[in-house]
Amino acid sequence: MSSRHLLPCRCGASVPIGPSQAGGRAHCGACGAELDVPTLGELRRLPPAEEDPAARGGGWNAGAGLLTGALVVAAGLAAGAGWMAANEPAPPEPFSPEQRQVFVEQKIDQMSPADLWRMQTFIYEPLAEQGLSKAESPADQALNQQIQQSRILQTVLLAAAAVAAMLGIAGYFTLRR
Ligand SMILES: [Zn+2]
Repeated sequence: MSSRHLLPCRCGASVPIGPSQAGGRAHCGACGAELDVPTLGELRRLPPAEEDPAARGGGWNAGAGLLTGALVVAAGLAAGAGWMAANEPAPPEPFSPEQRQVFVEQKIDQMSPADLWRMQTFIYEPLAEQGLSKAESPADQALNQQIQQSRILQTVLLAAAAVAAMLGIAGYFTLRR
């Protein structure tokens, strides 16, 4: 439904006029001249203005829709990163020589001579060669790896959220014109 009509200006441009402007004044967008708008009856005899979806707000709607969609995606990605950060496993307890000492003494009390010999061979000899700082248990290693992977994924999710938000904003301003 085309309710707007084109009012020709002296400069050759046409100004789209809506019925509410009938009998009033309008400005030519091309030359800035002030134009007398005819009455509604005369206005209807002028050529109808073509419905430009962008001028009618369709473009704005598409841009706003894109922006909304992108922001929803960005929020979802950021929420995913937040969830991962909240559910990240706790880091392993820092190595405590005192605790280790207590633990070892308890173990030694419970051990048979054969066990002690095996512990000496398989644990303390490698320890003596590698040093205590490297004595990270496989469980701790796995936990640290899990945390590291979670952090990488969080970074990726946040970066994707930022990209989605930026694409949405860029699309919004591109479609809005
Ligand atoms: Zn003009």
